[in-house]
Amino acid sequence: MCQFCHEHGEGKKWYLQAKNYSDDLLSDARRRKFIAEFASSGVESLSKEFGGLKKLAKLPGLIRGVLARLVTWKMKKVHFGQVVPIEEIEQIFGFVNSIVRVACICRRVSLGKEKRYCYGISLEPDGGEFGRIFSSVDHSYADGPHSPGLERLTREQALEAFRQHEKEGLCHTVWTFHTPFIAGICNCDRSDCLAMRSTVTNAVPVMFRAEWLARVDPEKCTGCRQCMRLCQFGALTFSAGSSKVAVDERRCYGCGICRSACAPGAIRLEDRRSDAVASGLW
Ligand code: SF4
Ligand code: SF4
Repeated sequence: MCQFCHEHGEGKKWYLQAKNYSDDLLSDARRRKFIAEFASSGVESLSKEFGGLKKLAKLPGLIRGVLARLVTWKMKKVHFGQVVPIEEIEQIFGFVNSIVRVACICRRVSLGKEKRYCYGISLEPDGGEFGRIFSSVDHSYADGPHSPGLERLTREQALEAFRQHEKEGLCHTVWTFHTPFIAGICNCDRSDCLAMRSTVTNAVPVMFRAEWLARVDPEKCTGCRQCMRLCQFGALTFSAGSSKVAVDERRCYGCGICRSACAPGAIRLEDRRSDAVASGLW
């Protein structure tokens, strides 16, 4: 299991522990300040971070490695994510009491467009203290043409939206706001999300892989390669000899998105701990 499961989940999945979503954690003034700053200056600070990643990539290997470890260490304290498959998103939606959708700050910066791929979640029915802090600051970046501000969704509406995100190949990730408090779920891709770019492309991890790993049943696989189209991590390989697809366990993040493209149902998720190689890769 990942580091946070041991530190914040008592050996169970930390993101399935309701206590990590609790408003009690918001009595910490530093956390409240962090959320307020994140909501009010997200676009500006993310623009700088996108620029910072480009500069980091040009540095000599040794310096880059030291800086990358420092960034990861800091992010684990304040704003760190983990990939979570849709079954567990459904479990999270089962115990939270409010779900709001907002425009993604990353897409605002990387595409200059509003894309409503981010969700705020709370145990409180009205969005909780997180919603109040978030609403009280200038979140004009979240104002859309049809639904300004925080857009409230039912569990069913949110789940349906996540199924659509899967068809677009977007990978679900939970996020802390001063760890271990979880208040957001994003839908990421490699080209437009700072977190995935940082973690996968630039080797500066700001999120863990899922607790899962994909497996392909060769008996069911027809070799259609539709799954490869959706994998953001290049973890699926096609064998011309066997006309089958296989999973590279070193690359698989366990998001499960590939399953949504597989008509014969040849792909399943297994516990990451069941694989000697993948169990050590986070
Ligand atoms: S989508 Fe399914 S059947 Fe098609 S190649 Fe991938 S695993 Fe095989
Ligand atoms: S192969 Fe792994 S990383 Fe790629 S889409 Fe499937 S579960 Fe996600």
